[in-house]
Amino acid sequence: MINYLFKEQNWQSQLNDLITEPLELIQALDLSEEQLLNGALLASQEFKLRVPRAFVAKMQPRDPLDPLLLQVLPHHLELEDHPEFITDPLGEEAATQLPGVLHKYRSRFLLTLTGACAVHCRYCFRRHFPYQDNLPKDHDWQSIASHIHSHPEINEIILSGGDPLTLSDRKLSLWIDRIETIGQIKILRIHTRVPIVIPNRLNEHLLSRLKNSRLHIILVIHCNHPNELDDFTQATLLEVKQMGITLLNQAVLLKGVNDSVDVLSKLSYKLFDAGVLPYYLHVLDKVKGAQHFDVPDIDAQHLYTDLLAHLPGYLVPKLVREIAGEPNKTPISF
Ligand code: SF4
Repeated sequence: MINYLFKEQNWQSQLNDLITEPLELIQALDLSEEQLLNGALLASQEFKLRVPRAFVAKMQPRDPLDPLLLQVLPHHLELEDHPEFITDPLGEEAATQLPGVLHKYRSRFLLTLTGACAVHCRYCFRRHFPYQDNLPKDHDWQSIASHIHSHPEINEIILSGGDPLTLSDRKLSLWIDRIETIGQIKILRIHTRVPIVIPNRLNEHLLSRLKNSRLHIILVIHCNHPNELDDFTQATLLEVKQMGITLLNQAVLLKGVNDSVDVLSKLSYKLFDAGVLPYYLHVLDKVKGAQHFDVPDIDAQHLYTDLLAHLPGYLVPKLVREIAGEPNKTPISF
């Protein structure tokens, strides 16, 4: 019944009706207020709780360890300092060349059009990123276009965020129009978690714009646990795939959420059922406030060895780490 209502509700009203108060989230899941240990409310002030109700509907009521809940509920451990966990673990502030442009890799760069997300993931490596100083305005397009022309090796733009699918269809379309005018750009990749937390963002208008683009469109969704893929989400993604749009998934390996072979195998099979190929499994970026999600490398390696033995190769995501200054993601070696 709850999911039926979300199917009917327009994505923008869902985005305007997020749960932002920890107490409301706890009550919606019929959990005791004691789940909010000292410090959780303070952690929420530092990085605000944001979660769509459609995502909350995928959580198990009365389960304080629900793997979806753990990803969004502020935790007092976020306030603890740890020398290895810092505010900009990937050195992104130094890699920003122009407003919105993060050019780290040779043939492609990230274009950040918004700092807004539909959901705040507590492990997010950009949770401290100063978006307000880095978003491109319309008049910045000429400089961005010149940057592309002066790098003929660039053939791909990655819309990232924040989450680009929180933008209106009109604004998104405007930026796609601009990118399409540059002949050397062949591929547009969109990194987004919105299809998982508000699946009906993938509406007809957006999909038709993507389908009719001259660019090869790749939608890289971000799904960490099989419970995030209910029937409606899977059916929606499958429709996107059937329109000829490439769908990939990147997940983050998170302690207490998906650090088991059983969970990761189920995730790969459910993604495949929805027309999505598992692309990356990232080890956690060491961002301040996320240390309680860290899976030690040795455990990640054992887990990955088991995963290789459980799944056909095409369903095994690449286990990688991002290292500041490196020209590509670094595969975790054994
Ligand atoms: S949706 Fe992506 S960018 Fe936004 S908080 Fe989650 S991980 Fe970070």
